[in-house]
Amino acid sequence: MMWNNEREALTDSGKKALQSEALKGLVKRAYDKIPFYTEKFDELGLKPAHISSIEDIVKLPFTNKTDLRDNYPFGMFAVPMSEVVETHTSSGTTGKPVIGGYTKKDIDLWSEVMARCLTLSGTTSSDVVHNAYGYGLFTGGLGVHYGARRIGATVIPVSGGNTKRQVMIMQDFGSTILTCTPSYTLYLAEVGEEMGIDFKRLPLRAGNFGAEPWSNNMRIEIENRLGLLALDIYGLTEIIGPGVGNECEQKTGVHLCDDHFYPEIINPDTGEVLPPGEVGELVITTLTKEATPLIRYRTRDITALKPGKCACGRTSMRMERIMGRTDDMLIIRGVNVFPSQIEEVLVRIEGTEPHYRIVIDRVGSLDVLEVLVEMNEKMISDEIKELEQVELKIKSEIESLLGIKVGVKLVEPKTITRSEGKAKRVFDKRTL
Ligand code: ADP
Ligand code: ZN
Repeated sequence: MMWNNEREALTDSGKKALQSEALKGLVKRAYDKIPFYTEKFDELGLKPAHISSIEDIVKLPFTNKTDLRDNYPFGMFAVPMSEVVETHTSSGTTGKPVIGGYTKKDIDLWSEVMARCLTLSGTTSSDVVHNAYGYGLFTGGLGVHYGARRIGATVIPVSGGNTKRQVMIMQDFGSTILTCTPSYTLYLAEVGEEMGIDFKRLPLRAGNFGAEPWSNNMRIEIENRLGLLALDIYGLTEIIGPGVGNECEQKTGVHLCDDHFYPEIINPDTGEVLPPGEVGELVITTLTKEATPLIRYRTRDITALKPGKCACGRTSMRMERIMGRTDDMLIIRGVNVFPSQIEEVLVRIEGTEPHYRIVIDRVGSLDVLEVLVEMNEKMISDEIKELEQVELKIKSEIESLLGIKVGVKLVEPKTITRSEGKAKRVFDKRTL
């Protein structure tokens, strides 16, 4: 079932016409209303009239995260504050946060795309949505909230934290859809299991998990432990928050709402646009957003696009699971390493829990990478020799995947900090 048949299953020519029209409008609004774009266009000798179809998008300049920072707080707003009804920010652990503004129409748009995403996991008006994404400046909580409301489902705005109480509510209210980060899902599972809850006997049926990178093996772990269908949801504050796209039950990539968010993949070093299937940095243009529209925004997220009709009937552009961000790619002794590659290995290993930490340090002039993995309760009673074998197995699997030497250490159960929102797993001591 689709939320919006007309928009999610467009023909190629229908989609192109829609995107072209929207792009023309966007370029005009950005040029007229946002001094940053007026200047950029003028520098390039570019006028809105030079853009007549979606294919002309390559003529347009990129927008970077630093451009948003330079124009903090409201310099990138295309409408007067009297038309802005809501603002959100990214968590931005360093420096000033990035701000997204929303007009009434933008909130409508957010509700629409989030309704599509929740419908992708099978949510209907009869469902009870347990929304454990944080409410507040973070986009996760309210984004899911608006979408669930648009569908007419019952939303439990439980937000993050107080995990035991969450499990109780989930049980008593009969939650059927779970929305939170994948790492928090595992924490919920762990706490619930300690409370003696069998998740498979609860009415929970599916979940939209995202806001942080996670691997397919992590998905399998979550599905097995909670007895639900676990689908990937993607989004970012700059573009709208959650709702940029979501997987369907085919699990063949994230369906992007490409009538509103136009995706491209570029080579992050050269800016060259790459053909479908090639891995690079995702660039998104917000075709219809009013308050904070962005032209060719460089997301720093690494993925590849998959065009073509999906078995679910949708023709919206799909993208591969996010492999990492250009800014969380680790360079260890010259080799590019994404934390998600290490997670893929860890989640498959018997006797360990999907809680881990990656520590990078520099000893002399050499980078050293160490992976700490939690063993489970069963493992802890095993012989030292067996523990060593597990460590060796993990070590050799990671080494053969990455081609560099790593250290692996099993640590006691429950010693790695659990997260209620986005997990922090990488500790790079080289830059501290
Ligand atoms: P911040 O992380 O600074 O708080 P956001 O909350 O806007 O900012 O987070 C957006 C980022 O989160 C994305 O650019 C991406 O890196 C990551 N993200 C969101 N959803 C997913 C997902 N499903 N898979 C991988 N990464 C994701
Ligand atoms: Zn599909």
